[in-house]
Amino acid sequence: MANKNESAAAPVPASNNIAEVAKQRNKKFIAQAGKLSKDYRVTDDKKFKLKDYSCNVDSDLGKEDKLMAQQILQSGIEVLSEMQDKLYAQDKWALLVIFQAMDAAGKDGAIKHVMSGINPQGCEVTSFKSPNSEELDHDYLWRCMKHLPERGRIGIFNRSYYEEVLVVRVHEAILKSQKIPEKLITADIWNDRLNDIRNFESYLNNNGILLVKIFLNVSKKEQKKRFLERIERPQKNWKFSQSDLAERKFWKEYMSAYEEMIRKTATRRSPWYVVPADNKHYARIVVAAAILHAFDSMKLAYPRVSEERVSELQLIKQKLLAED
Ligand code: ATP
Ligand code: MG
Repeated sequence: MANKNESAAAPVPASNNIAEVAKQRNKKFIAQAGKLSKDYRVTDDKKFKLKDYSCNVDSDLGKEDKLMAQQILQSGIEVLSEMQDKLYAQDKWALLVIFQAMDAAGKDGAIKHVMSGINPQGCEVTSFKSPNSEELDHDYLWRCMKHLPERGRIGIFNRSYYEEVLVVRVHEAILKSQKIPEKLITADIWNDRLNDIRNFESYLNNNGILLVKIFLNVSKKEQKKRFLERIERPQKNWKFSQSDLAERKFWKEYMSAYEEMIRKTATRRSPWYVVPADNKHYARIVVAAAILHAFDSMKLAYPRVSEERVSELQLIKQKLLAED
């Protein structure tokens, strides 16, 4: 029951209280997201080593933990959705989320879950496959640039220009088929590409496009388990491809390409997140936390309307009320 002093005060509208509770909840959640994602964030680390990052959560998640994880993810998605609304209304910043990983690491699932509460009008997902002949007639950033997010929007790249320093590096035959003048194919090519990507991302940052780059760090053992599941479960058969098995043979080469990629392109404004991906539930929470952290740095707010406009709106309101 309210005490005497409180009951004497002017009543606070219930909607104000609810808004305040929601604001506090969001604040707390965003602070926690910042803390959680920090452990996996790589910003500028010349000594970065993949082996320092685990593919799994330290302890196994039990049944109760899974339930809790789902609840946390659900709340995270709600906060994300509110922030996206502000991003759209403010129409200044844009966010590009890049997913890179070995096959069966859970890119599709993470995108589906984390983005489930997002307004599709403000978001575009693009999957990058092996380039077609028109794409090969251009520089490799061309096809990606066409899908960069507009201001106020979120862009999601399922694979990206980073394939140019991953699959193309692991299989030099792909490089040879790229129609690049022979003279330019030298020992420096990978370093040049990594520098170009770093500079390109800095250009995007300078234009108000922030990047969150996710590497879903799945272990070779877990990948084997997931491939077997794709073979054993009829509903998952369509997901299995023979070429996935071929790529698995180059695991070591891929890991060293990933390591160098992260070391050379992780920056404060375009960090990489090395997300433990053997546990899908946990991975999705870390991804949501990383995106929340990026939104937080934009200091998003609904545009403030001028006093003049507020008076105008009041006049319009009076007119509307006077109508039948
Ligand atoms: P899934 O998890 O469902 O298998 P996916 O992203 O692996 O999804 P796929 O259609 O299986 O999709 O594979 C796309 C393939 O395209 C990958 O093997 C990737 O390495 C390749 N690819 C993407 N970009 C390039 C590129 N620039 N050059 C060569 N190959 C590329
Ligand atoms: Mg694949």
